[in-house]
Amino acid sequence: MEVRRSRRRKSTVSAYRDGQRTIVAIPARFTRAQEREWVQRMLDRLADKERRRRPSDDELLERATDLATKYLGGRAHPTSVRWAANQDKRWGSCTLIDGSIRISTRVQGMPGWVLDYVLLHELAHLLHAGHGPGFWALLESYPRTERARGFLEGVAYGRDQAGDAPSDTESDDADSDDTDVDDADSDDALSDDALSDDAETALAPAGAVSA
Ligand SMILES: [Zn+2]
Repeated sequence: MEVRRSRRRKSTVSAYRDGQRTIVAIPARFTRAQEREWVQRMLDRLADKERRRRPSDDELLERATDLATKYLGGRAHPTSVRWAANQDKRWGSCTLIDGSIRISTRVQGMPGWVLDYVLLHELAHLLHAGHGPGFWALLESYPRTERARGFLEGVAYGRDQAGDAPSDTESDDADSDDTDVDDADSDDALSDDALSDDAETALAPAGAVSA
């Protein structure tokens, strides 16, 4: 772990992985006590973000059940949700007879809102086979459907261009790598922040978190 003090930083802190290293950038004006506090906070947030991007199978099922309740009126009932490494051409698949869902391990490490879309897509298939208007209507209440579809198309395009090489790039992270210290001053603000994917993406620059 490396702490970098920057004179250009006034009130932002960021933490990211660069290969094997973890770098925390802080304003040069920080005292040693502030440095200790913020380095620990940012390392915790980074670890938390990485955990949430690679949930266990049990956590996947819990997440899918929550999504079904929130966006599908609780009508879809998955019996199991598992990561699967053998889904080369698909992001996810489901089996109607037993209500099981498999999500490609290629989705691991993608932003949480993309994983949520892939889960919702398969959950919606438990209610509606095929990709007709009735199917897409089920996904309308999820606000990031279009954005997630674009994200996945971009990943697939990049993979095609690269000749099937796995992509570690998280293009969504490109917009910002800063967390505003002053906004996140209270613990409440920090934990609220940590729940949203927008805050997550604020923690790492493009490509810094590799799979
Ligand atoms: Zn589908």
